[in-house]
Amino acid sequence: MFRSYSGVYREGMERLAGAGIEEAALDARLLLEYVCGTDRNTLLAHGEREVSEKEYERYNALIARRTEHVPLQHLTGEQEFMGLTFMVNEKVLVPRQDTEVLVEEVLRNLHDGMRILDMCTGSGCILLSLLQYSNDCVGTGVDVSAEALAVAGENYRRLQGQRPGMNASLIESNLFEGLPKEERYEIIVSNPPYIRTSVIDTLMPEVREHEPLMALDGREDGLHFYREITHQAREYLSRGGMLFYEIGYDQAVEVCEIMAGEGFREIEVVKDFAGLDRVVYGSWFG
Ligand code: GLN
Repeated sequence: MFRSYSGVYREGMERLAGAGIEEAALDARLLLEYVCGTDRNTLLAHGEREVSEKEYERYNALIARRTEHVPLQHLTGEQEFMGLTFMVNEKVLVPRQDTEVLVEEVLRNLHDGMRILDMCTGSGCILLSLLQYSNDCVGTGVDVSAEALAVAGENYRRLQGQRPGMNASLIESNLFEGLPKEERYEIIVSNPPYIRTSVIDTLMPEVREHEPLMALDGREDGLHFYREITHQAREYLSRGGMLFYEIGYDQAVEVCEIMAGEGFREIEVVKDFAGLDRVVYGSWFG
């Protein structure tokens, strides 16, 4: 039986919409592009092209999993972030567009040759983007999860393939515990778990059931990791070094207070593209 791109796409979209998937049209298109190894333009301009039996079967299997709220990125195994492709799986948080605001803010303050520590690196998307868009910086990514670090390691190898000078080490450690005491960094950046435990149950099923709880849960008031990291970061920042956080939209006041309380200065809040508070940073002068 002959099946066209446009017919199969419409079918997929209707199944996703029927299952209450928010971005049904977008996800149906991205999955079809993925299965047929094609792109948006070809799909739109050549809607009459044939989808093979094999492709159709594969597409339907993925659509079925997407109706069960498996995140799109777990089906395709990747996510774009800062113009780069990152491999992802259920052991890391899927890189969010909001987090690009954090990376952009660090890049504004990053100079060639700086040492960067990314605490709670997950897929490595923050650290590796910073290294990709700078020169001669030395990166350290820390995560408590060995499985997350395996993903970061794979992303590092892939990006390093295109940019052999890229220099990162990935360390399995509970926050700063496993870092040599004498290490110093000009930049410490973190997108720690910051969702209040009581809020986790209200998240979308894609997040709640498929993304690692460990990467989301910021404990009772959501601020646990900001307190820990801010306190310990003081020992690892060089004089004039900067600490950058991604935060939840309602956490700016508290995170600024935590940083000020630990002696950080020149503390600033940056909004994301939706106009919500998204980044807090400050400097350490010892
Ligand atoms: N922004 C993420 C979410 O809303 C949470 C990220 C985090 O806890 N660091 O799912």
